[in-house]
Amino acid sequence: MIRIDIATLFTGMCETVMDESIIGRARREHKFELYTHQIRDFTINRQKQVDDYPYGGGHGMVMQADPIARCLDFILWQYEKKGQARPRVCFMTPAGRPYDQAKAKELARLPGLVLVCGHYEGIDERVIEAYADEEISIGDYVLTGGELAALSVADSVLRLQPGVLSSPEGYQGESFYDGLLEYPQYSRPEVWRDRAVPPVLLSGHAANIRAWRAGQGVSRTRARRPDLYLALPPEVASPPAKLPKKKRKR
Ligand code: SAM
Repeated sequence: MIRIDIATLFTGMCETVMDESIIGRARREHKFELYTHQIRDFTINRQKQVDDYPYGGGHGMVMQADPIARCLDFILWQYEKKGQARPRVCFMTPAGRPYDQAKAKELARLPGLVLVCGHYEGIDERVIEAYADEEISIGDYVLTGGELAALSVADSVLRLQPGVLSSPEGYQGESFYDGLLEYPQYSRPEVWRDRAVPPVLLSGHAANIRAWRAGQGVSRTRARRPDLYLALPPEVASPPAKLPKKKRKR
């Protein structure tokens, strides 16, 4: 069972998100372990100050190395005490490696993961150098803090854990899992504001439905994400066999 630790100045924000919906239910059912740690609790000054001015001047404040180091030492000690392997320590930063589903799959196979959230203008580089196994960015934009980034990583990793979704099919056909975008989805009613559900989906013909969905996945990927399309193996990228045309039900 995977264990995830989030080191943050905003534990409430992380707890709220991790207690909701599918992840919250799985957490209550002990499908994984998740702990949040208040970095401020690891300060040794009376004001519980965690930030200071940047050396060299400039705008804003920087998170100091020491409270984060103490927090990480505490988490790593917990693993050690239980005889568990050292977890992967990941700092959330816009300067990190762009996060994707391949990385989610890789992290999901680990027994332990520590996600460190920065704030203000960022984190003193020395604690990153000392502790980070990797630095992760969730995209080319800047957030106020690392919490939304850590929560995105945690969510994407946790939904791949056994028993979190009702079946592995829940994620196996999804966008990015095999390098493709997912086919479009439809639900009731059959016709909504003059827009009909593609007839093949109402046919009950499982093989045709599979073929249609596979084709849609490939054509969407080609149209919307040529970068992904070009990386597909030829047997997946080649256009699927055409289905007989049927009139749309209006
Ligand atoms: N001054 C930093 C820079 O220009 O790269 C941005 C600091 S940002 C306001 C504060 C914190 O939010 C960062 O330390 C990081 O933890 C988190 N953060 C912001 N954008 C992020 C992103 N795209 N991916 C991961 N973490 C991010």
